[in-house]
Amino acid sequence: MEDYKFLPTVNNDSMGNRQVEANRKEAFADGTCPCCGYITIPNQGDAVAYICPICFWEIDLFINSESEPSDQNNGLTLKQARDNFAAFGAVSPWLKQCCRAAKAEEIPKGKRDRAGFNKNVDV
Ligand SMILES: [Zn+2]
Repeated sequence: MEDYKFLPTVNNDSMGNRQVEANRKEAFADGTCPCCGYITIPNQGDAVAYICPICFWEIDLFINSESEPSDQNNGLTLKQARDNFAAFGAVSPWLKQCCRAAKAEEIPKGKRDRAGFNKNVDV
């Protein structure tokens, strides 16, 4: 079976319990996530359907503003996703279990000491 590199693995056990594991194989990132602001997106941000491993925003190249609902993100707007990330550490509270902490090199230069940018860092 082919390895789906960037999708989380979902398992349902015999009791109907769902376990979600984020796949840790990631592409080289050189673009900034429009939601959390960390450097997590490959191809300088032009990566359709790529999911940020830190906030779980799925890159949507078809929205034109932060207040336009994103089909890739269950109708969430980028503004709502940013507010949720600030409050819960993920675009939606239930996706927090899929997110990982930011690495030090994913913090944009010039923001390394800014409040809010270091709280989720795993160094
Ligand atoms: Zn993100």
